Amino acid sequence: MKYFILFGPPGAGKGTQATAMTEKYNLRHISTGELLRKEIAAGTELGLKAKALIDAGSLVPDEIVEGMIESEFRSARDIAGFLLDGFPRNTAQAEDLDAMLAKAGEEVTATVSLMIPDETIKERIRHRASIEGRADDANDETISNRIATYHEKTEPLIGYYRNSGKYNEIDGLGTIEEVRSKIFGLMDKF
Ligand code: AMP
Repeated sequence: MKYFILFGPPGAGKGTQATAMTEKYNLRHISTGELLRKEIAAGTELGLKAKALIDAGSLVPDEIVEGMIESEFRSARDIAGFLLDGFPRNTAQAEDLDAMLAKAGEEVTATVSLMIPDETIKERIRHRASIEGRADDANDETISNRIATYHEKTEPLIGYYRNSGKYNEIDGLGTIEEVRSKIFGLMDKF
């Protein structure tokens, strides 16, 4: 099985690119953000717990997202692998993912990191807010906190995956098609 990690700051275009990636390489897309939004929409206990944290632009507890990931891994059939989008989000999650995969004799295949400058992040999120209507895209304070959380908690993963030789970065600026063809060029190697 292949385990690709789609990495990058909020608004880098991960969700936009994920569908083409999963179709071309027969991967299952696992977006922890989307799974959490589904729980919130369904009004589950887990959703209730997650909502306040998501609305504040903070991370939800590791055990919540890791439980979701494990259950997605277990239920997948007839695929070549997974595309993890929005997970891992901090070093503890990356270590837990490595341990989870090692138990099954597997490992992370590669990261595909979409990078955009900070000034572009807010612009992209504002644009998405007008299209998708995500609650956490609509509030300036939430957006700022998500960006701060990214720098503080998620960005150190660049070093984590560089150390294991699994870090691959792609310039996320440009048209959707331009970025997509760069992603495919990279993924074709694995
Ligand atoms: P996303 O759709 O990936 O931007 O995620 C939306 C929100 O869900 C984030 O701002 C976090 O509050 C929460 N979230 C998503 N993935 C994770 C994760 N791996 N760990 C903790 N919180 C997460």
